[in-house]
Amino acid sequence: MSETRIIDMHVHLVGNGAGGTGCRLKQPFWRWPLSAFMVRHIGLETSALKGDLDRLYVEKLLNWVRTSSLDAVVILAQEQVYDERGRPMPEHELAYVPNEYVLALAQQHAEFLPAVSIHPARPDACEELHRCLAGGAVLMKCLPVHQNIDCRDRRYTPFWEQMAEAGLPLLAHTGGEHTLPVVRPDLRDPRILEWPLQCGLTVIAAHCGTKSAPFEPDYFDAFVQMLERYPRLYGDISAFNVPIRGRVIPRCLKAPLRDRMVHGSDYPVPVLGHWAWLNGFIDWKTFRQWEGQPNVLERDYQLKRAMGFPPETFTRINQLLRKVPHMDKLTH
Ligand SMILES: [Zn+2]
Repeated sequence: MSETRIIDMHVHLVGNGAGGTGCRLKQPFWRWPLSAFMVRHIGLETSALKGDLDRLYVEKLLNWVRTSSLDAVVILAQEQVYDERGRPMPEHELAYVPNEYVLALAQQHAEFLPAVSIHPARPDACEELHRCLAGGAVLMKCLPVHQNIDCRDRRYTPFWEQMAEAGLPLLAHTGGEHTLPVVRPDLRDPRILEWPLQCGLTVIAAHCGTKSAPFEPDYFDAFVQMLERYPRLYGDISAFNVPIRGRVIPRCLKAPLRDRMVHGSDYPVPVLGHWAWLNGFIDWKTFRQWEGQPNVLERDYQLKRAMGFPPETFTRINQLLRKVPHMDKLTH
């Protein structure tokens, strides 16, 4: 695999289970406006939400990748919510995307790199990890505030060690969360990732600990301090093209932070250039040029390039993802 591939390493899959994919999506009435907005933002009709969403979503995503500057995207599975003893908590679940689905899609399409999602409290966590490694997983994604994963829990140590041994990095959501229900708000703090780091893992803190609403705590400074202590820690710049999170961009563009950033969009989260323009990170001409770009993956990439993120931000992830022993793709 080329180390110079341009990769968006934070792309969500969404599905309602149509076509037997195993995905689930709960749509309470109060979420409908947000879901409808997101679906239209990525170029689908709102009717897709009640129809063959899984296939339409994948086809659209593939098309966006193939017509963008990107070579590949890391597609993320979405684990269920569990309590500390490994019992499912379905009352908190809003979206579920199984590991097998993500692994199978990556087998079919060279543009897709599979990130699995495993709650370490699951009774079969280590077996599932083993299965996912055999299936070609390159990353493990978790969302501690939502999925109720306290990464400091010493019962998870064997799980972290197994990941470290396999060279599988951890992508963990840090900072504010407003798309999914928050079960443990204290787990927004990136310092919960110190234990997996001490277990030898490479860790990417999604969103660099930034807040996403005005009146919530911000953990960006805590993340920056951790970068000094942990050379295996990185941060992703996903969802930096929405209000509030993006205010840390000028600091992320300077060394030493600049050399620890990786590019992700958080697709299908909206990409709005207004914020960057109003803050002076891009000029009016650049804003106008990309705001009309219907391919949101490309829009996010171009806006970030224009802000001054260097080319390495978009290729660095090649060095961090697990090197998968040769696996023949079914196509390409
Ligand atoms: Zn995300």
